[in-house]
Amino acid sequence: MPERVRVLYIMGWGRSGSTILDNLLGAVDGLFSMGELHYFWERSVLVGRSCGCGRPVTECEVWSKVLRAMEGSDAREIVRWQSDAVRIRHTWKLLHADPAGGAPALKAYADVTTRLYSAARDVTGARVLVDSSKRPSDAALLQLLPEVDPYFVHLVRDPRAVAYSWKRKKAQRDTAAPAEMLMHGTLNNAVNWTVWNLAADAVRRRAGRSRSLLLRYEDFVSRPRDSIASIAALVGEASAVLPFDDERTAHLGTNHTVSGNPSRFTTGPVQIRPDQQWITAQRLGDRVATTALTLPLLARYRYPLVPRAASASS
Ligand SMILES: [Zn+2]
Repeated sequence: MPERVRVLYIMGWGRSGSTILDNLLGAVDGLFSMGELHYFWERSVLVGRSCGCGRPVTECEVWSKVLRAMEGSDAREIVRWQSDAVRIRHTWKLLHADPAGGAPALKAYADVTTRLYSAARDVTGARVLVDSSKRPSDAALLQLLPEVDPYFVHLVRDPRAVAYSWKRKKAQRDTAAPAEMLMHGTLNNAVNWTVWNLAADAVRRRAGRSRSLLLRYEDFVSRPRDSIASIAALVGEASAVLPFDDERTAHLGTNHTVSGNPSRFTTGPVQIRPDQQWITAQRLGDRVATTALTLPLLARYRYPLVPRAASASS
């Protein structure tokens, strides 16, 4: 039997910093970042969005080979299986599901996901694949796949910073026609932030400490190299060469991430810096509403009621 595919899955609500985390992990020796693989079929195959290398997946040196290995797969059908079997609200049920004896859509999606990971591993030769799809439901499914060796990072960010980020316009760079990324209202953001983080907590509890860790965005950007080193150690790559010149300067090469934030196209040296503009620039109404709506979980992740800028000394 071939070795199980080692997969590091990043969970967390949008605008929590998963794209830069994913890009840094992809630059670690032995790791290959696939981006948000959940959206491969819909956005890359059906819509034709570019890979991180700038080419359509059908012309990318990695994904064109993966697609050949997946010949016979129907992208439309796979997208239907996703909406039938791995919605976020399915997370808790999936933690105890049996794909072989479960609904046909779940079994079919479990099979195609296993094949996709195996093909990506065979094409890239990576020791660890990084999937930054962020979805706790797909993460729960990973634990059910006998041919996958799964690890999890749960990335969480102060919900007030996330609310501010959703309100800023960001041009899409990977579609033919420029479009604005989806805007999330204050209420929508607060509810989703809570549900997605609760679901990610459930996956971590099930996986245990030897296979998962919680990473606060604020800790990650204040000590990026240490954070990447901890994650490398989690996946059994403690001695891997890290892409850092110093604690916060990293080098990014061309990547082959299939979906994610426009910053996935960034290459060359990058300085990781805390983004604290929201602390002074956020509208008071958004601040108060988000604080009230996310109150039950704020303390759990050690976020203060009244946010203050961290000192710039570290
Ligand atoms: Zn590519």
